[in-house]
Amino acid sequence: MAAASELPHAVCVELARDAIAAGPAAYEPAAAAERAHQYRRSLLAPVINATGVLLHTNLGRAPLALTQSPQATNVEFDLETGERGSRQTVVGGLLATLCGAEAAMVVNNNAASVLLVLAALANGRDVLVSRGESVEIGGGFRVPEVIEQSGARLLDVGTTNRTRLADYSRAISRRTSDVALVLKVHPGNYRVEGFTEGTSIEQLATLSVPIVADIGSGLIDANCPWLSGPPPAWLATEPAARQTLAAGAALVTFSGDKLFGGPQAGIIAGRADLVAACGHHPLARALRPGIHILLALQQVALAYLQRAVVSDSWDAGLPFWQMATASVNELSVRAHQLVATAGCGAVVATESVPGAGSAPGTTIASVGVSTAGDHLAALRRARPPIIARTRDGVTVFDLRTVNPADDGYLVEALRACAS
Ligand SMILES: *Cc1c(COP(=O)(O)O)cnc(C)c1O
Repeated sequence: MAAASELPHAVCVELARDAIAAGPAAYEPAAAAERAHQYRRSLLAPVINATGVLLHTNLGRAPLALTQSPQATNVEFDLETGERGSRQTVVGGLLATLCGAEAAMVVNNNAASVLLVLAALANGRDVLVSRGESVEIGGGFRVPEVIEQSGARLLDVGTTNRTRLADYSRAISRRTSDVALVLKVHPGNYRVEGFTEGTSIEQLATLSVPIVADIGSGLIDANCPWLSGPPPAWLATEPAARQTLAAGAALVTFSGDKLFGGPQAGIIAGRADLVAACGHHPLARALRPGIHILLALQQVALAYLQRAVVSDSWDAGLPFWQMATASVNELSVRAHQLVATAGCGAVVATESVPGAGSAPGTTIASVGVSTAGDHLAALRRARPPIIARTRDGVTVFDLRTVNPADDGYLVEALRACAS
């Protein structure tokens, strides 16, 4: 089995044990080979995301090409002085420039950003959160639980559907409370409609305590100056880091791998004294990013600043923005080419979605190719695996989320589905 599957001996032993435990049929040579094959397919590897979900949490959110050499890096070394430096200085500086912030720093993910901000700025004190924002984001991120873990105390204000500025100011002036900050959470994955009222950052900024805005999705600037055209219409409702800070938030926190289009990371940006307090907290050491993440973030930040986010080739730009800005016309040209080359399949209109809790409820007009029948399981076994969707018993590949360099695999898949 080991020779046939090229799997490490220790893994083969585990698989053989499982097979014996499963009963006589499982250790037929064919069954053993199938187990080895299944195991190999379970290893982390590239897949083709043809789902039309741009930031697919189960497929690693924003895709990103990385070029890194196997060499030492000046991550904590100041080349001018020869002394020890901080791993946050350069990338934090670039991120601050992008957001129009005094300072910024990086941790492992955005859940860690919120945890660190609360631990550093509100330990043992009260944090005000609107009852409409005391949410669960998904993947186990629940605002009340994160606050509890940070050592801060949650003080709910307002009601589920309406929270006014007066609700916050009353809580701050109560003699029994010791309010460290207001946490405003962008409820990315759901919407309350009807008789609702929220409090804007501008209004909150008139309060006497700092406003921390967890914007989550990580749109850097609502004007998208890195695009040659206007911002995509579907981004209109997303809060952006630059505008949230300009409106008076003391800090914003967001993910690196959502609308920012970078690697998994959490970014804290805003007032220099507050970012410094986060950096000095002992948890900052436990939550610090590795050099591969810092290198990737530096590459992404430079791409934004150099206006090199969208390019003729996916891999030269940021794949997220390539997906986000592809025109329906160019997707349609690709779809017709695909169907003509394959000699089967049909061109269909589709709707992509941002995904990962970004711009909930919005869709992006897109184009796909379809083939009769449900082929999802067979497609997952293809090399590379193709993750598609079915609609009314028809398999659909949405081209917006597929790197054009992978279209050849879709041609093969269309043919295999038709035969
Ligand atoms: C996604 C999100 C988080 C969690 O971010 P991770 O990077 O997945 O840890 C927290 N808050 C908001 C508002 C989010 O949208």
